[in-house]
Amino acid sequence: MSFPTRADCAARDAADPLFPFRQRFHLPPGVIYLDGNSLGAMPVSTPARLQAAIEQEWGHELIRGWNSAGWYTMPRRIGDKIARLIGANPGEIVVADSTSINLFKVLSAALRLRPGRRILRSEPENFPTDLYMAQGLIALLGDQHVLELHPGDSIIDAIDEETAVVMLTQVNYRTGYRYDMASITRCAHATGALVIWDLAHSAGAMPVDLNGCEVDFAVGCGYKYLNGGPGAPAFVFVAERHQAQFIQPLSGWMGHAQPFAFDTQYTPAEGIARYLCGTQPVLSMTALECGIDLLLEADLEQVRAKSLALSDLFIELVEARCAGHGLELATPREHDHRGSQVCWRHPAGYAMIQALIARGVIGDFRAPDILRFGFTPLYVGFADVWDAVDTLVTVLETGEWRDPAYQQWAAVT
Ligand SMILES: *Cc1c(COP(=O)(O)O)cnc(C)c1O
Repeated sequence: MSFPTRADCAARDAADPLFPFRQRFHLPPGVIYLDGNSLGAMPVSTPARLQAAIEQEWGHELIRGWNSAGWYTMPRRIGDKIARLIGANPGEIVVADSTSINLFKVLSAALRLRPGRRILRSEPENFPTDLYMAQGLIALLGDQHVLELHPGDSIIDAIDEETAVVMLTQVNYRTGYRYDMASITRCAHATGALVIWDLAHSAGAMPVDLNGCEVDFAVGCGYKYLNGGPGAPAFVFVAERHQAQFIQPLSGWMGHAQPFAFDTQYTPAEGIARYLCGTQPVLSMTALECGIDLLLEADLEQVRAKSLALSDLFIELVEARCAGHGLELATPREHDHRGSQVCWRHPAGYAMIQALIARGVIGDFRAPDILRFGFTPLYVGFADVWDAVDTLVTVLETGEWRDPAYQQWAAVT
């Protein structure tokens, strides 16, 4: 079987309009990083910006920094920047807390906006925290709701007049399956249900059009494709039409209309600010803003086109060169249903990933049997894909993944 050579891949890199972005990220030598879907790489600008935030802002401005260095307005300012990446308007997003906590806020809002409807619908392979947060909220509300799970697109036929909310992650974290946001949102609205989209694996990885799809609520991560650093704060989107109707239950003082009036009584801020809770992690937000500023320089249509080209190449090369080793493609071949990652199933997937990491090719493993490779087009090139597959071929053909050292599961996979 003929397949592209490394020289073909290098030629594609030379012609790639996004290739210069690679210089804007710090990537350790000898590493091919295929895990930007889990923790994005560090922008070159981040260390100096953080150093300045620590020494000049914290060190010199001290408490004055809340006004003089713009710390106070960060959640809304950075939220407005994220809005430009995902088809939202200014004033519809704040950066705050974690994705899990933001899910709690919007799930609460959605259930409150649909009184009398009992059912939350999601999929069994949704990221567990999304399901756990729904379970916790249902228990808190006295078990009057149920969470029903439907695999893949079968959820479309299940949405009915009893459905309060449909909660899905646009790109499945394990298989990379990408849902059709516009059509599922339309189906939900046709029966009067609301939608919550988790954008953990799509914000910054591809164009997203929240308002074009009339999405009600969305959440997403700062540390994945937004390159905000480990544990970076998350974001929450609430369509403007829903903002005034509901006070989210985590009614902390930063979501108050006048936090510094120090009132006894909670009065929510107007607009999206009521989705804030407590004091923001300024240093983490500073790092997040570096990642977002860099992404705002890129054309997300180009990012999406390159992501599909990289993942097509990866699939083609693995199928041509690793046949007979039992890897089974878990990611859809159709572009419309693919995110920015490619996954393979293999019972020894964990050990294979460890052996790859030992050779500098960093992907990750998702139980029970998924080898996951993320393609972040701003810093991954075509020759990288070729080299990664070449390393995989070595790992499989030598059988070095059978080394007992690679069978020991670490705490974080
Ligand atoms: C990564 C991820 C999360 C992470 O949530 P945290 O609260 O940041 O730990 C949530 N949902 C999905 C779909 C994810 O992929």
